[in-house]
Amino acid sequence: MEGKPYISVLVPVLNEEDSLPELNARLLKVLNEMGNPFEIIYINDGSTDSTPFLLENFHKENKNVKVIEFNRNYGQHMALFGGFEYAKGDIIVTIDADLQNPPEEIPKLIKKMEEGYEVVGTYRKDRKDSIFRTIPSYIVNKITARLVGVRLRDYGCMLRAYRKDIVEYMKMCPESSSFIPALANTFAKKIVEIEVSHEERKKGKTKYSPIKLLQLNFDLMTNFSLLPIQFIGMVGVGIALVGILFALYLFVRRLIVGPESEGLFTLFAILFFFIGIQILALGIIGEYVGRIYHEVRRRPRYIVKRELL
Ligand code: UDP
Ligand code: MG
Repeated sequence: MEGKPYISVLVPVLNEEDSLPELNARLLKVLNEMGNPFEIIYINDGSTDSTPFLLENFHKENKNVKVIEFNRNYGQHMALFGGFEYAKGDIIVTIDADLQNPPEEIPKLIKKMEEGYEVVGTYRKDRKDSIFRTIPSYIVNKITARLVGVRLRDYGCMLRAYRKDIVEYMKMCPESSSFIPALANTFAKKIVEIEVSHEERKKGKTKYSPIKLLQLNFDLMTNFSLLPIQFIGMVGVGIALVGILFALYLFVRRLIVGPESEGLFTLFAILFFFIGIQILALGIIGEYVGRIYHEVRRRPRYIVKRELL
């Protein structure tokens, strides 16, 4: 199919050699059946397996398949930012490479977009992940929704569609780490979330270790709001007030009861509590300072080593 693509499908890929052949075949089938001009852009996020060769072959077999290669691993969201720079479609769809979200769901998203929405998000129908993934991610979804002020039913589900202008706005955000679904929702007015099916990861392993997952959520929290730092400030004021009241109480008690030397360990307990809070506060300040450091360094967010367009 020739002409300017109507749909761009972006696929971030990190060592997915086992899923790629099936993914590519299913994507091509679905997109061809829809009958609009399309492009598939794979972003190779520093894979070390046979992924680059597979992607090159996909490109040789079909000119609608494009490949961008990063010089190293920058993370899924950076990979998508990279893809945004190349996407020419009116509708931009992001999908994981591991086949957990079936490509056959894409027409559903496109249909919704054509009803006039700017962003079509998805949430996973009976999500097929271990409880070690689903329970933390449930808690994270709840807390994040509160903190970030961007309500998403399922932050983890990356099968999403965006209108071209929303992607343009996202490209204007030069922060060195970001969380695309939340970012998109800060720009869009007409957002809808639909249910999509979810499959078990059949091949390969998840690319997110618990540490990486935690990092992603810190990113999400500190990138989208100042609430954590403001909250700590308020807690500080509260604690100081309690401290003043406590001192007053001790003073009055001294006048009535006279000198006492008990309560030494209570003091310790209180002290530890304060120390804990202080360290926490420092940590949070550190998080923001670290982020500022990242931004002022102005390093390139990613480096494209090779493009097959
Ligand atoms: N991915 C990536 N770079 C990374 C981590 C992941 O491009 O640093 C890709 C990965 O190949 C997959 C998608 O992002 O296509 C989602 O990763 P994964 O399935 O491991 O995450 P999960 O589904 O476990 O949240
Ligand atoms: Mg997955």
